[in-house]
This record gives sequence, C-alpha cells and structure tokens, in this order.
Amino acid sequence: MTSPTSVDPQALEDLVDANHILFNKGVVDAFGHVSVRHDKRPDRFLLARNMAPALVRADDVQEFDLDGNLTTDDARRVYLERFIHGAIYHARPDVAAVVHSHSPSVVSFSAVKSAKFRPISHMCGFLGDGAVRFEIREFAGDATDLLVRNGALGVALAKTLGSGNVVLMRGHGSTVVGPTLKHAVYRAIYTEVNARLLADALRLGDVEYLSSGEALATMKTNEGQLERPWALWKEAANRDRTR
Ligand code: MN
Repeated sequence: MTSPTSVDPQALEDLVDANHILFNKGVVDAFGHVSVRHDKRPDRFLLARNMAPALVRADDVQEFDLDGNLTTDDARRVYLERFIHGAIYHARPDVAAVVHSHSPSVVSFSAVKSAKFRPISHMCGFLGDGAVRFEIREFAGDATDLLVRNGALGVALAKTLGSGNVVLMRGHGSTVVGPTLKHAVYRAIYTEVNARLLADALRLGDVEYLSSGEALATMKTNEGQLERPWALWKEAANRDRTR
C-alpha cells in the first residue's frame, strides 16, 4: 500500500461534475463510471467508489494504480470493472479520461454484428471510420456475466479498442476515451446521440455516413470548443441536483 499523491482540486471537481453530467445526460444510471488519469502520477487514476455516479462527491473518489489496486488503505467497495480504466491508461499514454457506460441506444449496436457503428452526424466525427466491437466470448467463454472483472479482460478490451476512441462491448455497453476529461464526457454523450440517430436513419433507408475526412474535420471543429457544452451541462446537472 502506497500513499496517495495530492490531486489538483480543479481536476477533482471536474471529475465530480463529470459524474453528475453523465447521469443528467442519460449516459450512466445507477451503473457506469468515469475516471481521470492522475495529473501528477500518470501511473495512477481517480475513480469514485462503488456507487451511483449522480451521488458522487469529492470524498467518494479513490485512487488506483493501473492494475486496478487501491493506492490507499480504503475499505469502501470498489467498482468491479475498474480494470477497464487501468488497462486503457496503460495501453494508451494519450488517454487522460475514460467513460464506461451501458447507455441504452449503444447496446443495440453492440449486439447486432452487421450494424456498423459509424458517425452520421457532424457532432460525432470522433467515431472516425466506426467503433470496434469487443466480444468477451473470444477471451472468457460463453458463460460470463459479461463484465470486465479482471486485469486480463481489461487488457483484451484495451487491445480491441486499439487507437480508437470508442469500443462497443457486446450485450453490455461501451467504453469511450479522450485526451482530457471534457473530451471523454463529450464523446460519451454523443456516442449515445449517434446511436439514436443511426437507429432512426436505418429505418428510413440507406445511410450516408461521414467520410473519413469529414469525420476528422468535424472532430477538430467541435472538440475545439468543449468549454461551451461543458458549462451548459454542468449548470444543468447542478441545477437538477439542488431542486
Ligand atoms: Mn459495465
């Protein structure tokens, strides 16, 4: 057991806000979680204890190493799927935040192998040429509870994600990453939006997806102004909390 390194108070506040925003936007409910890489220790990350994200406060945040071990003597229950976060931070030095959720519209696309999950809106260009799909049966057989509940499954998930921003998890949900917390939150919200739009569009007819070039260009434009949605989402989430 090692001692925790002091965390930038703003980073901690943003992580608490991210928990509330993701609930307010319907990405997480009682389940799902968001983490951020430690600002001073890249080999550690911050994640709330096992609880509903909407209820998270600063003192609910715990610190982990990249193998998913707590760095403090803390008896409070931890999330079963914390291995998702550590394995991705280990594999992807460019990633500073991870959102894992079961946001409902995305689950359909995780389960339908023939349905490509590509961007159909300019707000969703971060999906690039499409999200990859993680099939847990390839790594753990056909009788699991579908959860990434150990380090080996975390590594397998991170490998499937590769250099992408989003990985669908068959019959379960998705994991979304970003170079900052605000990127990851934005992408998690718009991953759910893309799934809703795409499910609608597929009922109407042949879908024209964003090209690779359009995906890249729109991603650059939208992700250059993340403070704007963040300010709105934070205000809305906090307003709803104090009612
Ligand atoms: Mn899960």
